[in-house]
Amino acid sequence: MADSPEVDVLVVGAGVLGVTLAYWLSTLYDCSIAMADLAPSAAMHTSSRNTGVIHRPYYLNPEKKRTFARTSLLSHPMWERLAKSAGFPWKTAGTFNIALEEEEVRVLEEYHRWGLANGMDGSELELMDGRGVASREPEVKCVAGILSKTDVSVDFGAFTRHIWRILLARGVRFLGGRRVVSAAKTGGKVVVALRDARGSSTLGCKFVINAAGGGALALANRLGFGSGYAQLNFRGEYWVVGEPFASRVSTNIYRPPKFPQYPFLDPHFVVRADGTRQIGPNAVAVPGPYVYSGAGLSKALSFLDRPVWPKARLFANGDFLTMVAGEWRSSLSKGAMCGRVRNFIPALRAGMLRSRAVFGVRCSVVDGSGFVPEAILLRGEGSAHIINYNSPGATGAPAFSAMVLDRLKRDGFLQGLRSRDAPSAIPGWDYRSVVARL
Ligand SMILES: Cc1cc2nc3c(=O)[nH]c(=O)nc-3n(C[C@H](O)[C@H](O)[C@H](O)COP(=O)(O)OP(=O)(O)OC[C@H]3O[C@@H](n4cnc5c(N)ncnc54)[C@H](O)[C@@H]3O)c2cc1C
Repeated sequence: MADSPEVDVLVVGAGVLGVTLAYWLSTLYDCSIAMADLAPSAAMHTSSRNTGVIHRPYYLNPEKKRTFARTSLLSHPMWERLAKSAGFPWKTAGTFNIALEEEEVRVLEEYHRWGLANGMDGSELELMDGRGVASREPEVKCVAGILSKTDVSVDFGAFTRHIWRILLARGVRFLGGRRVVSAAKTGGKVVVALRDARGSSTLGCKFVINAAGGGALALANRLGFGSGYAQLNFRGEYWVVGEPFASRVSTNIYRPPKFPQYPFLDPHFVVRADGTRQIGPNAVAVPGPYVYSGAGLSKALSFLDRPVWPKARLFANGDFLTMVAGEWRSSLSKGAMCGRVRNFIPALRAGMLRSRAVFGVRCSVVDGSGFVPEAILLRGEGSAHIINYNSPGATGAPAFSAMVLDRLKRDGFLQGLRSRDAPSAIPGWDYRSVVARL
């Protein structure tokens, strides 16, 4: 074991959540901060492996998904300032959510109400019938649609790395390529054990913030948090749509979920920040958070990680199993994947899908009642853990992380740190004004 250096705060995970948390910490406190990530650099996992849409919160139930809705709304102008000041693409493609059957139209009407209840401006949303949709997107066949005009296509990976570079310039120590394998509270500090290619080391810290994405629940469990939760992992796969067909659709096309209680959406047609088009993601059940290819059979036993019963309960449900099988079908067969999008873009053909694109894995937390709808913040002396931080987590990260720090501050967990008020390194990112509007 190497020596045990000390830092005030260790942030585990250099995805969009970890870097925004460290950004606010380094703005508000004069303290030593380290970030550990099992990858050698920032944003190597979900934060670069997503659909890349800054979602407006029209499709989020204001009661069940209030935090995601609020933080998405507040973060939108913050990302815009970052993108424009740093010269990253900011492509206001807009998103159609479409109904293929009459009975789905009420879902779109509900979306309209939710958007307004979540603070969107009426001018951002427009309900239209199938002909209205076709007048804007002639390749799309549906009975009705709601257009969210202010959805934006971006590169969240680039945003994350930009903030990470600001952190390095501020003196945050980055421990890349190091997996946090365990942590224990001893004598007023948390001692974290890290492993890298060369061996093991330990790090003592006053406080650990666990923003480890797909690894967050396992780490929380090691510090005695979240034992009633289990995790299921769903790989979202995309295909690149070739030209000349791709450019014939210029808005994101989404469908409302058939079973909102499960994380299965029909794949969307997506306009990327660089102007390319893709279809995806599906939601293929895999046994680990980083199973980006194959079935990950070597990790299959992880299904038996405790607690087993919330997972077993789902897998005993016939509807759930049918969906799991359908998602695997669209993983194995390009034609099956294409067929799901042809339901609303009939001219699309499997031959137009040129290559597979970058995949991401959604790590969903389940408890005895099924999938948990919101992110969960678990906290106690010495550590805080954010689990189930799923879509639209990339959209909402700047405001969500400000909310987390505000809660930790108010609960007295950051008392030992010396406050400061560093000037914001990102134009328009003002902690107090975000927190006041949460
Ligand atoms: C297919 C898909 C599409 C999505 N589309 C969108 C979208 O369009 N818009 C949107 O807003 N959101 C979207 N999301 C959600 C969004 O991408 C995530 O909510 C967000 O990226 C999560 O960020 P994170 O920092 O928590 O996780 P990550 O980016 O995964 O970061 C966690 C980090 O922790 C590290 N780590 C894990 N375990 C350990 C350990 N033990 N020790 C050290 N390091 C560890 C990992 O290496 C990783 O870098 C999508 C997600 C998926 C899967």
